[in-house]
Amino acid sequence: MREIESFDAIILGAGLSGLSVADSLMELGYQCAIVDAGFPGSGASGAPMMLANPATGRRARRMWRAEDCFDSLLKYLNKIDRITGRRCYSMNGVIRPALTAEIADDFNRSPDKYEWLPGWIEWIDSEKFSEQFPYFNTNFGGLYIPKGITLKGADYCESLVQYLESQNCYTLFGSKPEILKNGNQWIIQIEGDIQLITPIVIDATGYQQAMNENWSFIPLHPIKGQTATLHFDENIPLKHSVSSLGYIAVMPENPYQITVGSTYEHHFRDLKPDQKGLSYLQGKLEKTLPGFWEKSKSVKQWASVRVSVQDKMPVIGEHPELKGLFFIGAMGSKGLMMSRYVADILAQKICNRIPLEPSLSLERFI
Ligand SMILES: Cc1cc2nc3c(=O)[nH]c(=O)nc-3n(C[C@H](O)[C@H](O)[C@H](O)COP(=O)(O)OP(=O)(O)OC[C@H]3O[C@@H](n4cnc5c(N)ncnc54)[C@H](O)[C@@H]3O)c2cc1C
Repeated sequence: MREIESFDAIILGAGLSGLSVADSLMELGYQCAIVDAGFPGSGASGAPMMLANPATGRRARRMWRAEDCFDSLLKYLNKIDRITGRRCYSMNGVIRPALTAEIADDFNRSPDKYEWLPGWIEWIDSEKFSEQFPYFNTNFGGLYIPKGITLKGADYCESLVQYLESQNCYTLFGSKPEILKNGNQWIIQIEGDIQLITPIVIDATGYQQAMNENWSFIPLHPIKGQTATLHFDENIPLKHSVSSLGYIAVMPENPYQITVGSTYEHHFRDLKPDQKGLSYLQGKLEKTLPGFWEKSKSVKQWASVRVSVQDKMPVIGEHPELKGLFFIGAMGSKGLMMSRYVADILAQKICNRIPLEPSLSLERFI
């Protein structure tokens, strides 16, 4: 028998973008469904570890709307903790060691140059830095970003789903949906004779967006990344995560492991982790924390693809011709910090018709 259900909005993709926009819409009273062809976190959002680090790039620039993004993320994390009783993150701060004198110059300038709020960033000079963090391969000092968050991506996605389901969000995972238009309605057809009907579909399918003809006018650029989670027999001395040539993620609750990660492959043939990626990450770790790799007892690899556009800003908005079809994505390497804040902006556009700012809107590509 055919199962038919209607929703105010249906979200395709249960990654950070899709799960965030579902929550934003539900806060505004929308009844939502989330459909994922795989499982929650089966895309880039399922990274074993991720960082929310507001000091970006080689100049440690304050990221776009750092405070707003951070507040939105923290509010969401606290809400989920309360309901699910699971904690998948730690606010253990991020260290940015300056590996060269030139980088040290830029880092040293960052606290004044980018108008950080008090308590967000601290320059530590070379003597103090080497004393506090003797294991880094640098004599040039570094930055400490106390607000930095380390989070287990796959666990976070699972908790988000658990939370959203507790708020009566309908979820369906593991079947690729077919999307059909019928007048003002969209029909999401799923194997096994399930039909979901809605006036609003939100595409949050990550890397798949870059291959979807509907969005071919958005110059989405996919970049593959890999991670290696190293296990040790003894406690590692790091308390904070590290942003240096990619990242080194540390969760204080598990002092026997670190995750080294980087997104760097602009041309790739498949989505699997490989030996080349492992060697690349080993080289990166060696430059920052010499001797760590060889002490590890086992390594687990993971790979995925993130998408971005040239201006490195997220992309949201309604398709110019296909009314009721919305896009959220291109979170780049800042999905954790940006997705919840940007999802609120899209939800306000959908529910209250608040115009999108041009720097986020997909209209900037038309
Ligand atoms: C190695 C690596 C490390 C990273 N580290 C960080 C970090 O430290 N900090 C940070 O902020 N960001 C990091 N990122 C980037 C971050 O992962 C992304 O910005 C973010 O996860 C993108 O989320 P998304 O929801 O847009 O896409 P995704 O997480 O890719 O989600 C897309 C979802 O859509 C589903 N889907 C695909 N096709 C369909 C379909 N036809 N129908 C329904 N569902 C479909 C997929 O199964 C998937 O679950 C990293 C990325 C990588 C690859």
